[in-house]
Amino acid sequence: MLGWSINLFRVFGIQLAVHASFLLLLVYYGYEGWVEGGLPGLLWSVGLIVLFFVCVILHELGHSLTARRYGVKVPRILLLPIGGMAEFDHIPRQPSAELWITIAGPAVNFVLAALLFAAAWRGLIPTEEIPEYSFAGLLDQLWVWNLVMGVFNLLPVFPMDGGRILRALLAFKLPYLRATWWAAVVSKVLAPLLACVAFFYLHQVMLGVLFLFILFVGDVEYRQTLRRDQEERYWAEMARRAVVVGPASTDDEPPLIVHGPN
Ligand code: ZN
Repeated sequence: MLGWSINLFRVFGIQLAVHASFLLLLVYYGYEGWVEGGLPGLLWSVGLIVLFFVCVILHELGHSLTARRYGVKVPRILLLPIGGMAEFDHIPRQPSAELWITIAGPAVNFVLAALLFAAAWRGLIPTEEIPEYSFAGLLDQLWVWNLVMGVFNLLPVFPMDGGRILRALLAFKLPYLRATWWAAVVSKVLAPLLACVAFFYLHQVMLGVLFLFILFVGDVEYRQTLRRDQEERYWAEMARRAVVVGPASTDDEPPLIVHGPN
């Protein structure tokens, strides 16, 4: 599915790509705008979606450029209808690195919201009686969207930004695997609750599905962390035994299996 993407151009050496389904989003909003306001409505709606995703790209660049400072390679940023995804070759295990890399994304949205708010405050954007389908109207929507994007991403649902921040904060005190386990547990409680709020209170089906998807992705990432931890323990133990009794006698030993985090 993720293979159905179109490469656009490079920013700071990072390939920017859009998933094919993103075009359906543009068609959908373009059509809605056209039904409501003809050609101006169509252009305004498509313009709003494009600008919104420019903010998503800036959010992902916040993560990516900070990650590079910690030696992470970022080959691609992929835009999906549900948001952006920066692809890292690895996630640093130092809590401080993960903390700064993660905070940088929502921080970009808060800076953008503050800049747009300041522009409105300085009278650069009219705040009352904004003409329909105007550029000022676009900027007025964008400042709210950036604020919402920043706050939404800080929800402590792993592996969303808020969940990663929670894991990093826990990892200052706990072993990495146990910190991940706690972040995944919080996510398993919160994500279904937020999905219910989205389905039954806000009547936002897509948002509800998004929370269930995040729940699934979070569980996958926890299992990957668990497997890697088990492998590291196994090879560390093998190396220890090799030193103590020599490699030949380790043949009959069963592999180490770690039951849950510790
Ligand atoms: Zn983010």
